[in-house]
Amino acid sequence: MLTYTIEIRQDQQDQYLTVPFEMPPGIARLEVSYTYAGHGEGDCVIDLGILESDRPRGWSGGARPSFFIAAAQATPGYQAGPLTPGHWAVLLGTYRIPPGGATCTVTIRFEPASHRWLKGDLHHHTHHSDGAHSVAEVLQLAEEAGLDFIALTDHNTITQNQVRCESPVLTIPGLEVTTNHGHLNILGARELVDFRFRHAAEFRRPAAGLVVLNHPHCDFCPWEHDFGFDFDLVEVWNGLWTGRNERALAWWQAELAAGRRLPAVGGSDCHRVELFSVVRTGAPTTYVLAEDATVEAILAGLKQGHVMISDMQDGPAIWLTPCPGEIVAPGTHEVALKLERAEDCTLRLVDRTGIIYEAPAADFTYAWEATTGNFLRAELRSDFTGMVRALTNPIYVG
Ligand SMILES: [Zn+2]
Repeated sequence: MLTYTIEIRQDQQDQYLTVPFEMPPGIARLEVSYTYAGHGEGDCVIDLGILESDRPRGWSGGARPSFFIAAAQATPGYQAGPLTPGHWAVLLGTYRIPPGGATCTVTIRFEPASHRWLKGDLHHHTHHSDGAHSVAEVLQLAEEAGLDFIALTDHNTITQNQVRCESPVLTIPGLEVTTNHGHLNILGARELVDFRFRHAAEFRRPAAGLVVLNHPHCDFCPWEHDFGFDFDLVEVWNGLWTGRNERALAWWQAELAAGRRLPAVGGSDCHRVELFSVVRTGAPTTYVLAEDATVEAILAGLKQGHVMISDMQDGPAIWLTPCPGEIVAPGTHEVALKLERAEDCTLRLVDRTGIIYEAPAADFTYAWEATTGNFLRAELRSDFTGMVRALTNPIYVG
């Protein structure tokens, strides 16, 4: 991401200023946004467009605060097509600049072509602890569910990670650090973590891997240590959506509202799959935007909060643009919501004050007045049960 702040004098009114940048190779999508403010009295209008090799590739004047260009699609007014590496420039038309001048901030984002959404289950047991299935059987279940990855998180052991099986499903080595007063997942675990701590302050995080606060408001094994310790993610969605998840969601919302950036994930916590069982592999499914299908890239995507959770591998989906986990500048942003399989659901948008929009689920673009410290996230709830069927991580305001 590139950010430029430009001071514009009044004698630069009625010109076309450029903000040059190099388009790197291998970019699938370009996003440009801007904000500006005039100083003192007088009109301030700055138009927006873009040049490729010094030729206009699109123009939105003063109509939009942002635009995107990708191979197959682009914001109206901009030409979709390949993003050829080379000299590009954001074009600023200084239509009206007040005597005191103006300040304009331009943000340019590149999405590499290789980034794609991968789906998986981040919490699964095997017979290396109290699960019923072998590692090979769990990988088979994950493959049948169409998952790209699965984390094997047995209780206080990592022997499941030492089993080698042929599978198209990527295994994330895991571990569920299980104490009598709460559970933590280590995703990307390379070593066993001592589970014999009695206070959160005694927990020693391993050198590698992400620490997930698991099912913190579970009815049977909630987190009873204090929350003031070093963890990376919170499991707001554990298995079937019930009251424990509703309480975890409320806790997470309060943390976000207090200004914390804490990515949320889901996991089935599946121990065995039986006929008619509601607990099963991939329920819920966690989607993560990753640079490639490697453990490192998936963990990096999780840590950045590029995450959406759905109730199952072919459940409803919410695709937010900008991507969840992105940090945007204060100002007006057009947030695009594209929904899939969202029939009989209600869409909610939530910020730090709570629900700010609620309507029958449909694609739309939300004009968001983003203020410093705020965030925006989305949920789909079933019209029949009220249960969450999909939720995104927040877009944050930096
Ligand atoms: Zn657990």
